Amino acid sequence: MKLHSRQDSTSIIEREWAPLKEGARWSCIRCGWCCRQPWAVNMTWAEFERTRDDPRFSKLIVDRIEVDQRTGATHPYFVISGACPLFEAGEGLCSVHPDWFYTCATWPFLLMPDGTLMINVRCKGIGTGEVIRADAMRKRILRERERAGMVGSQCDP
Ligand code: SF4
Ligand code: SF4
Repeated sequence: MKLHSRQDSTSIIEREWAPLKEGARWSCIRCGWCCRQPWAVNMTWAEFERTRDDPRFSKLIVDRIEVDQRTGATHPYFVISGACPLFEAGEGLCSVHPDWFYTCATWPFLLMPDGTLMINVRCKGIGTGEVIRADAMRKRILRERERAGMVGSQCDP
């Protein structure tokens, strides 16, 4: 695996993410857009270990490690080239759902350390579905963090 240093993500957050507004609606319309972007998909080491011997993940090559220069913490990730190898194009679905990664399970939401819930403004499902219950979404994100083996969550809504 190759080591990469974490770049400042502040500008990306400012450009693509916005605090969730009260009354906002969202649902995943399964358009598959987010699985076809040239993004880095982060995973925890626990997720990496979980998927290593699982044949459903055999098409996935995870060959990079990100190093946080401030903390020295590391995690593996892969970069989508064209489409994620776990994406089923015809169905517009993730082939490993619901055993996907924390990054995928919580997208397009982001829980900031101060508890602010952000949404990625580029998701195609914004404006569809039910009104988002922010507290329920925060709890869901924390559950997903726990499932992914993250420790020391900074937010306790
Ligand atoms: S872009 Fe949004 S609506 Fe489309 S598949 Fe991704 S999460 Fe679902
Ligand atoms: S693991 Fe699944 S949800 Fe995540 S990027 Fe790949 S196909 Fe999409």
